[in-house]
Amino acid sequence: MSSLLRFKMVDAAINHTAVEVDAPEGRPSDYFGAKVFGREAMRKYLDKKTYEALSDTMANGTPLKREVADSIAAGMRQWALEHGADHYTHWFQPLTGGTAEKHDAFAQPDGFGGVIEEFSGKLLAQSEPDASSFPNGGIRNTFEARGYSAWDPASPAFIVDTTLCIPTVFIAYTGEALDYKVPLLRSISAVDKAATEVCHYFDRSVEKVYTYLGWEQEYFLVDESLWAVRPDLMLTGRTLMGHESAKNQQLEDHYFGAIPTRVIAFMKELEYECLKLGIPVKTRHNEVAPNQFELAPVYEEANLANDHNQLLMTIMDKIARRHKFRVLLHEKPFKGINGSGKHNNWSLGTDTGVNLMGPGKTASENLQFITFLVNTISAVHKHNGLLKAAIMSATNAHRLGANEAPPAIISTFLGTQVSAVLDKLADSRSDNAIRFDAKGVFKMSGISHIPTLLLDNTDRNRTSPFAFTGNRFEFRAVGSSDNCAEAIITLNTILADELTAFKQEVDAKIERGMKKEKAIYEVLKQKINASRAIRFDGNGYADEWRAEAERRGLDCETSTPLIFDRYLTPETVALFARTGVYSQVELEARTEVKWETYVKKIQIEGRVLGDLVMNHIVPTASRYEAALLDKVYKMSQIGSGLNADADIALIKRIQDHTAEIVRLSEELVEARKKANRIEDMRLKAIAYHDTVEGYFERIRDHVDKLEEIVDDQIWPLPKYRELLFLR
Ligand code: ADP
Ligand code: MG
Repeated sequence: MSSLLRFKMVDAAINHTAVEVDAPEGRPSDYFGAKVFGREAMRKYLDKKTYEALSDTMANGTPLKREVADSIAAGMRQWALEHGADHYTHWFQPLTGGTAEKHDAFAQPDGFGGVIEEFSGKLLAQSEPDASSFPNGGIRNTFEARGYSAWDPASPAFIVDTTLCIPTVFIAYTGEALDYKVPLLRSISAVDKAATEVCHYFDRSVEKVYTYLGWEQEYFLVDESLWAVRPDLMLTGRTLMGHESAKNQQLEDHYFGAIPTRVIAFMKELEYECLKLGIPVKTRHNEVAPNQFELAPVYEEANLANDHNQLLMTIMDKIARRHKFRVLLHEKPFKGINGSGKHNNWSLGTDTGVNLMGPGKTASENLQFITFLVNTISAVHKHNGLLKAAIMSATNAHRLGANEAPPAIISTFLGTQVSAVLDKLADSRSDNAIRFDAKGVFKMSGISHIPTLLLDNTDRNRTSPFAFTGNRFEFRAVGSSDNCAEAIITLNTILADELTAFKQEVDAKIERGMKKEKAIYEVLKQKINASRAIRFDGNGYADEWRAEAERRGLDCETSTPLIFDRYLTPETVALFARTGVYSQVELEARTEVKWETYVKKIQIEGRVLGDLVMNHIVPTASRYEAALLDKVYKMSQIGSGLNADADIALIKRIQDHTAEIVRLSEELVEARKKANRIEDMRLKAIAYHDTVEGYFERIRDHVDKLEEIVDDQIWPLPKYRELLFLR
């Protein structure tokens, strides 16, 4: 790569203008869900009996009969063909991240020299992708490298381009989950069961509890031409080098600024596509860092919401290319400016329409709310290390604890009002806290007036990784490239387990003759007191918090490979077994995949960094050095009157930096070789973390210093000031 190419690409980037997008036909209500085989299409393309059977399956998980599956497939095929589809695929979420699909044509030879569009219930319900290359953590030996994908009727099929996509789970023949959807569905059902039982203390008519998820997707955009000449961005999704731009986000002008026209055109097209796919996108705005943006939909049932997020990430990438952009979903593409997260807004709600994570109108509804709130906090307290493991990755590690995003310590923020309510409950003596009025209606001091207090929702703490925000919890530590399932599985599971234990304790007290409200109150009080350590309303970025968190016994581990150990502690294994979310084999396999993914990511970064410094940076610096040496030599030939001291000093600096880069790069290669010889995946990941990764920043420091002193005319890589600041 040459500097000539860099300038050509900068020029191309400057000249990229907004791409004309076709204005949507009609209003959002006309095209919302047009590419989804949802209720409307189902009613139109299925007969009444089939429609009702499918509705029942969607709502209650009732297994589908073979004939019904055939009828659904016939209707779905008809709908898909009429909507321009010619292929179909089982669409699933392997542990590599992202989504996988293998397209098959509807058209089949009819045996008489022609073709016929075929799609049976069997093809709809189950498929056998050649799955040997998907990570499985050793569950499937290669000689029986078979897994199958099975339709998840709770998430409707949809069309992308000309392919009918059928959301599926992905399972090994031995029954273990090989994807994110299976455990997510298991966790949704575990928390449904446990929460419904607890709801019965307050309302016998509740039959089902849903998990809701509203994600907020942050992302960066860069110009495609510039991206194409940054091998680090292309291959690792982040810049491994690059001197900070003199101006970045200090003025916070991007956050408040107008969205650039090119970006608006991209967003409009993206939103149009999302709406057609039934993704209820709602807000768009600039984020804090230059070139950083956010998109958020209205929250949905968690399984669907997560499918929608996965789908969004794929179509974002496609549409960005049409606009000559590249989307960066990496958590930290640029040093020195904010990284990207994916806030997971999470709540539970009943089939009677009550949000269990928000205050109600009566003392009883509020006791129910406090019950769910306190059980959540208590669960998060007990499993704070596990929650961190659920959101940690090689890429998110750059964001967590980097002093600008949620810290690598999980704590909860409740706000002054809710904190006050909990403290009051914990401190009051039950005899005078609980009362019943003349009509026998339950009253409780401290919680009866929550609704009015909570109207003031300005009480926010942006530094908290897990914040209560009035009617939901917002898990902010989730990374922008993550599959939300991992976070939601963990939250659902720990809460399900906590609620089950809670019910046992309360029931035991009731059996001993205690009144229900008093029994609930007693257990809550004990939980509030026992989980105080997890509550932190202060600045999560402050150094003092780390020391304080350590004193409180919270998990302060920052090494990514070591955090994954939390998945395999006896407590965690027992927790997932009790709730039926993961077997031990699954946990071991998935942790193995996490370590392996970590190793691969760091390995790739190490190689790319090595290539870049040896093929681009050192040669460029040497060229400039040679030019300076030439100058100094000529000066010396002329002789008197000329002073070469400054040039010689510069040459010396270049030499020092290049020598260090070469030396460190050689050491890096050695460290990698040594780590590669380790067989055990966990130990290998630890070696990559403790030895290999440490070189990246050290090498980068020297490169960034060189960028400051080497002639801009010959610098090969687009600089931060060129990559950022889209117009
Ligand atoms: P902010 O950036 O202030 O946190 P946004 O409006 O960007 O807020 O995003 C809030 C997200 O939370 C949206 O996806 C919204 O649908 C979701 N949300 C709102 N209420 C709930 C709830 N009860 N349960 C789950 N998600 C919710
Ligand atoms: Mg938010």
